[in-house]
Amino acid sequence: MHELSITMNILNIVEENAIDLNAKTVHEIEIDIGELSGVDDDALQFAMQCTVKSELLNHALLVINKIPAKARCKTCNHEFDVSDYYAECPECHGFDNDIYQGKELKIKSITID
Ligand SMILES: [Zn+2]
Repeated sequence: MHELSITMNILNIVEENAIDLNAKTVHEIEIDIGELSGVDDDALQFAMQCTVKSELLNHALLVINKIPAKARCKTCNHEFDVSDYYAECPECHGFDNDIYQGKELKIKSITID
């Protein structure tokens, strides 16, 4: 379950930032997860609940934004939604495309006091 290590990473980064900002409590952690990132949001929420957290992070709510995957065809420049890495261009039926959105996993914002 690699979501556990991802959760630990997220919490470490958030905690470092929160300490830098002299925060007393972290209320919310908002993250973007691409559909093709391979990260399961339920597993991530579960890992978040199971992880032992410091006082600073103990009440933090994890808000997950799912980012749809989009590709641009390298042959005809058409842009389209994809659900996996081997997507066919609906215009020219080529497979040479560049997935420019949907692989991300990043912390978007944190809400602190
Ligand atoms: Zn195309």
